[in-house]
Amino acid sequence: MAQVIAIDGPAASGKSTVAGGISRKLGIPYINTGNMYRSVTWHFLRNGIDPLHADMHDMLDLLQQLKLEYLRNPNGDFQIYLNGDAVCEADIRSPEVTACVSQVSAMPEIRQWLLDKQRHFAGMGLVVMEGRDIGTVVFPDADYKFFVTATPYARALRRLNQDGETPDNSTVQSVADQIAERDRLDSTRAVAPLRQADDAKYIDTTDMSITEVVELIAGQVNNARN
Ligand code: C5P
Repeated sequence: MAQVIAIDGPAASGKSTVAGGISRKLGIPYINTGNMYRSVTWHFLRNGIDPLHADMHDMLDLLQQLKLEYLRNPNGDFQIYLNGDAVCEADIRSPEVTACVSQVSAMPEIRQWLLDKQRHFAGMGLVVMEGRDIGTVVFPDADYKFFVTATPYARALRRLNQDGETPDNSTVQSVADQIAERDRLDSTRAVAPLRQADDAKYIDTTDMSITEVVELIAGQVNNARN
């Protein structure tokens, strides 16, 4: 068994905030695999490669020269470094990256390249890892598995609040549409689609606060560990 708390779920379901809370509560590292896909996508874009139209050979050539590391930063948190430089959240969460990250992450070669790095975290003690395929593909033998979701409307509202925007009906609808499109791409791809693992616990967070979700997951993990 892998000492991993796997948290999967659709876009903007609150996984990152929940995983961060669990990491602090249990004092364990937190690995955000969505940021890994985002970092690779950002690296393509800043090197003039449009991932939606590029040749796979050019993309793989660039990856061959890329060193992606997930290391502790001076604050003790894990952070992604590309060729030695820490990536900036604002860059990898930009609309340009968000618009094509799902197409990049559907490419089997890219998934394989990142899978090896994600599995590297096995054996370093209990970690919380969050993404789309952690409980199904990256660590099918994870000790703990959760599938976290919420209604599309609740997810769109949370995303807007998180970005500091004042939601009105049309912006909520347009964000909900973007989220739905990303979910569609992520759950219909051939390799490692977004899916609940058979043995994952399903948590609908629509009417829950982040604190409640963190308490629920950390409580179950602690019960099982004691
Ligand atoms: O979690 P986040 O929304 O930041 O992830 C960005 C994108 O990365 C997802 O829409 C998905 O396409 C991809 N992803 C993935 N597998 C993971 C984590 C993220 O395909 N384990």
